[in-house]
Amino acid sequence: MNEELRDLYQDVIIEHSKRPRNFHVIADGHKADGYNPLCGDTVTVYLALDGERVRDCAFQGQGCAISTAAASVMTETLKGKTRAEAEAIFQRYHDVVTGRASADAEALGKLAVFGGVSEFPARVKCATLCWHTARAALDGREEPVSTE
Ligand code: ZN
Repeated sequence: MNEELRDLYQDVIIEHSKRPRNFHVIADGHKADGYNPLCGDTVTVYLALDGERVRDCAFQGQGCAISTAAASVMTETLKGKTRAEAEAIFQRYHDVVTGRASADAEALGKLAVFGGVSEFPARVKCATLCWHTARAALDGREEPVSTE
């Protein structure tokens, strides 16, 4: 990862963990809870759908800076996406944070900065917890998601 992207990674994590976007409840939507026992991160993801499209997305929870920033950027990313688009983005994001693919800013936008996580394998679950939880919410699964 180049220095520019590394700086951006740090900036985005700090900024979004201090001032998370869409940090609220959506009363009339799908919802799922997630837990990362390795770090202690908890997240509840709310999704309101309009047919196949995500009309609104929000989260609540408590966790480390990476898990909070990941959820914040995710909620911004998912708004307006279809289920299929959301799934494709998650696959690509997962490949990037686990180091299987290089961060492609064109395809991933702001999510590309989470490529920095691939240098810290212990933090991968912090960065993906919200996405696993969002997928459960989309699928209407009720049981809590655990990364373990
Ligand atoms: Zn964490």
